[in-house]
Amino acid sequence: MTIGWHFDNTYSKLPNTFKEEIKPTPVHNPELVILNEELAKDLNLNFSNINKKQQAEIFSGNLLPKNTNTIAQAYAGHQFGHFTMLGDGRAVLLGEHLINENNRFDIQFKGSGKTSFSRGGDGRAALGPMLREYIISEALYSLNIQTTRSLAVVKTGEKVVRENLLQGAILTRVASSHIRVGTFQYIAAKQNIKDLKILVDYSVDRHFPEIKFSENKALDLLNLVMLKQCDLIVDWMRVGFIHGVMNTDNMAISGETIDYGPCAFMDHYDPKTVFSSIDKFGRYAYSNQPPIAKWNLARLAECLIPLIDTNEDKSIKIASEIINNFQKIYELKWLNMMRNKLGLFGENKNDLNLIKNLLNWMKKNKADYTNTFCYLMGINIKDKIFYDKSFTDWVSEWKLRSTLNNSNKEKQIKLMMKVNPVVIPRNHKVEEALSEANNNNFDLMTKLLFILKNPYSTKNDISEFQYPAPFSKNKYQTFCGT
Ligand code: AMP
Ligand code: MG
Repeated sequence: MTIGWHFDNTYSKLPNTFKEEIKPTPVHNPELVILNEELAKDLNLNFSNINKKQQAEIFSGNLLPKNTNTIAQAYAGHQFGHFTMLGDGRAVLLGEHLINENNRFDIQFKGSGKTSFSRGGDGRAALGPMLREYIISEALYSLNIQTTRSLAVVKTGEKVVRENLLQGAILTRVASSHIRVGTFQYIAAKQNIKDLKILVDYSVDRHFPEIKFSENKALDLLNLVMLKQCDLIVDWMRVGFIHGVMNTDNMAISGETIDYGPCAFMDHYDPKTVFSSIDKFGRYAYSNQPPIAKWNLARLAECLIPLIDTNEDKSIKIASEIINNFQKIYELKWLNMMRNKLGLFGENKNDLNLIKNLLNWMKKNKADYTNTFCYLMGINIKDKIFYDKSFTDWVSEWKLRSTLNNSNKEKQIKLMMKVNPVVIPRNHKVEEALSEANNNNFDLMTKLLFILKNPYSTKNDISEFQYPAPFSKNKYQTFCGT
């Protein structure tokens, strides 16, 4: 079979503390649900010479590609603030596929059976949550947001027991790595400084080779991860994405969005928006994402303290300075992102006020976050809310500001169209697509995936996907993808 796999596995060569060598548990009757042909092509992989049955054997782990060295990775994590030793309890890493010398991708199966990290779980995943990760991760990718990707989903032909009996499934995930803040926590908790150094070196080689020869690698690593997370969270805020479970084990040091569980998109603007059924106190609410990212980074900093300076007090002081920079840097990046959303060139001292006034109006009037910016871009949005006098007053102010710094309408709209999606994965549409997919009808999912490929384009007929669900007394809730 000439698929084009080129495995070169470095993580599996790390000391035993980092992983468990384990094979995926074979499944009875795998059936391919979806294969991401475009991603396959980007990875120099070609599955067109093999039939669907063989594809299913591959993506279920029944037939492992040559030169894979399957492992479950060890990691820990603060889950809703509580520290736990975790690890891949239902995933295995096949290895790292190289598309060329500088482009290395983890290929991982999620839902592939029990490991020594399963802690009583069944090691399996259900079809709905795996397709959900597929849809949302690919949507984020098309929105130009750093993310792990989804290459394929297979049904296992086996049932998984949750509240109901569900169809089992396996997702093939592609990531620049699966090193998490929690990976550092796991190694740090083992209190073996040699292993901690190995992890820092490994992470730097893999993600930040520019600091390979720096005098204080651990400190520079912390700083670079902090900057990556700043950019990521700003991007989430830009499109109204709520990750839903920002535990430290779900934060990748590469800066990619990882572990799509109860994530969802905000429709009407409310900073307190939470969808996850288990997030009772709104720890991971929309507006809490920046401070939580900072909190998670502080946990990373704690792990690195022994490597930053031999004097612990000094080490804590300089690591704290980096963590404390987060807010200032985030706010600056956020402000510029919001300027872009409003098509404002240059800086004006009243910009922050202008932005806040709009957000306050949106909150007060329950305006749809995505569609408000669409309306401002001149896209036909059917919503009487925009006739509101306080909104039209705000628009006059915005128009006045928009003329500054050599701007013109054309330039402004061009800028706005780059950052304001005209279509996002609307929660009710995702649910509808998943519910149909569960009943073997993939039409809506296919259509949704097609539309979400071009979220900044008005070329397709997006009318069916443009609006939030009609107001309902039952709040939309998401559940952890287990
Ligand atoms: P997640 O909520 O997917 O981020 O998972 C959190 C932790 O629980 C990770 O260590 C997972 O490997 C583990 N986990 C989640 N679901 C299962 C399952 N069905 N079986 C075993 N471990 C699981
Ligand atoms: Mg996780």
